[in-house]
Amino acid sequence: MAVAAESQQEEKSPSKASAVEKRWTLNDFDIGMPLGRGKFGHVYLAREKRSNHIVALKVLFKSQLKQSQVEHQLRREVEIQSHLRHPNILRLYGYFYDQTRVYLILEYAAKGEVYKELQKCKYFSERRTATYISSLAQALIYLHGKHVIHRDIKPENLLIGLQGELKIADFGWSVHTFNRRRTMCGTLDYLPPEMVESVEHDASVDIWSLGILCYEFLFGAPPFEAKEHSDTYRRIVKVDLKFPSKPIVSPGAKELISQMLVKDSSQRLPLHKLLEHPWIVQNADPSGVYRG
Ligand code: AMP
Repeated sequence: MAVAAESQQEEKSPSKASAVEKRWTLNDFDIGMPLGRGKFGHVYLAREKRSNHIVALKVLFKSQLKQSQVEHQLRREVEIQSHLRHPNILRLYGYFYDQTRVYLILEYAAKGEVYKELQKCKYFSERRTATYISSLAQALIYLHGKHVIHRDIKPENLLIGLQGELKIADFGWSVHTFNRRRTMCGTLDYLPPEMVESVEHDASVDIWSLGILCYEFLFGAPPFEAKEHSDTYRRIVKVDLKFPSKPIVSPGAKELISQMLVKDSSQRLPLHKLLEHPWIVQNADPSGVYRG
């Protein structure tokens, strides 16, 4: 859907030929089954009538966005996501709006949420985990190269495409950054010590979150989980990392996790080194596709 790749902002540009420019409206789509519900609206399977291209249409209610004061965050999300092109990053083809709603035209991830898969399986195999972690490391290398820090890598923000490939789907907390940031954001379990303590942070926050994710994929729960927020907080700051005896996980995986979950952010395993780690090399499917 080449035309859809243009966002409305881009289409307004006077330098673009008007014949190619298109302002999307709801009439351009056949709406199919609901795919899910988010905090601010619903997501539907949809088909762009002219090209027959299948997409996911996310419908957000302006009133709810306003009430929660997230319009700015949504603008940033759209601005960042619409410019990204990577097989492991969900495409945002464009957006449009009417009086009451904002519509995001998204790539359709046919196999749904990683979070639900993890709930179903309880934990993933080493092959599946290594394939996902390797794909995500490649997507993060791409993002960091564009000075984008994601800051909210967790199972709830990951979808699975038709072939079984992982897709980063949510850019609500991501930032374009040329300087170090101090903002508090994300979910506590996945926050690195420097963000819990509100000190400066940089792209290495995403390496920490990838380490948490690798642990959760393999063991079925994040490493610093606790009943009280204050205990999770304390465990993160101390890097109180323990590996359960069950399920049995190979020493290579534990070593990799320990190299990512390092308090000093400058000492975390760089992402390109992660791709060369023996456990990744031996277990990850080079195609990035987990076939089950
Ligand atoms: P969200 O508002 O982004 O949390 O989306 C709500 C739910 O809709 C998600 O949990 C998914 O199950 C589903 N969903 C969202 N985006 C897509 C997509 N691009 N492809 C398939 N399902 C999606």
